[in-house]
Amino acid sequence: MKKVIVFTTGGTIAMKYDEEKGGLVPAVSGEDLAAAVPGLSEVAEVEVREFSNVASCNMTPQLMFRLSRAIEKALDEEDAAGAVVTHGTDTLEETAYMLDLLHGSEKPICVVGAMRGASDTSADGPANIWCAVKVASSDEARGKGVFAVLNNTIHAAREVRKTHSANCATFESPWWGPVGYCDEDRVVFRRAPVGRRVFHPAELTARVDVIQAQSGIGRNYIDFAVRDGANGIVVEGFGRGNIPPAMEEGISDAVKAGVAVVISTRAFAGRPYESYAYPGSVGDSKRHGAVRGGELSAAKTRLKLMVILSEHPELARMPSDLEKLMDD
Ligand code: ASP
Repeated sequence: MKKVIVFTTGGTIAMKYDEEKGGLVPAVSGEDLAAAVPGLSEVAEVEVREFSNVASCNMTPQLMFRLSRAIEKALDEEDAAGAVVTHGTDTLEETAYMLDLLHGSEKPICVVGAMRGASDTSADGPANIWCAVKVASSDEARGKGVFAVLNNTIHAAREVRKTHSANCATFESPWWGPVGYCDEDRVVFRRAPVGRRVFHPAELTARVDVIQAQSGIGRNYIDFAVRDGANGIVVEGFGRGNIPPAMEEGISDAVKAGVAVVISTRAFAGRPYESYAYPGSVGDSKRHGAVRGGELSAAKTRLKLMVILSEHPELARMPSDLEKLMDD
């Protein structure tokens, strides 16, 4: 029987209703979480390692990086077939993507959460864990990177988004759809994530801020980020990546100060591009020194830029080289 190492980090999946506090709070240990899944021992030999027990709003890129280190070390153990991470759903897609950026081995990693607490009626945690362990131990998932596995569907870490604040079918991969599904007797992939790139920063040292373009805003948030020590800024533009023209001079000064500026899009899918030539267009931002990002959400563009600038800080001053890595 294959062995899967389950890292628990917290989230609703490990929460119970607290009468006194009037809401769900962290309450379930890693061991108890696994023990509550009927039939799990028939899927794989499961070893639980508790990493943390927090709501996922407490996760930081540094914690994600440390988690990645712990998982990669565990997966170096010859008898480990794959890993599962239990996680709050709020930032699940960020942790999954950070792990994906750093994951070079063939062994699958599945990040799993739940929309209902362990004490709620029809808690979805046990079924989700069962599926995640099944996928992590499957041959089908090998060599395809990191996944979010919930509600019987398998999503690529790079594509998945939380799309509903409460529904159990919240995770979707807008535009692309899931890569596969987990059924009672099998794991099925209908497509494979392509274009994964793995990075090897020694530490996560770069700080990157996200600034969302909103109608009528100016350069002040950009100026603040530069003054406050950001190494990179992701500007989440409209549509094709267009932004209020009043932000452009801020971009120019940020780039002159050695801060990398990457344009992403507020749109749910698609990539920014220099389709237009008016003030505030991506072409204009590039003339001011910015770099075009790719199809990733702003949150994931930020994590990718953090990883890249941590490994290659010199790229902050090499826009065309940085763009080749960011626009994929
Ligand atoms: N607020 C919770 C968290 O992210 C949501 C969940 O886990 O579903 O920790």
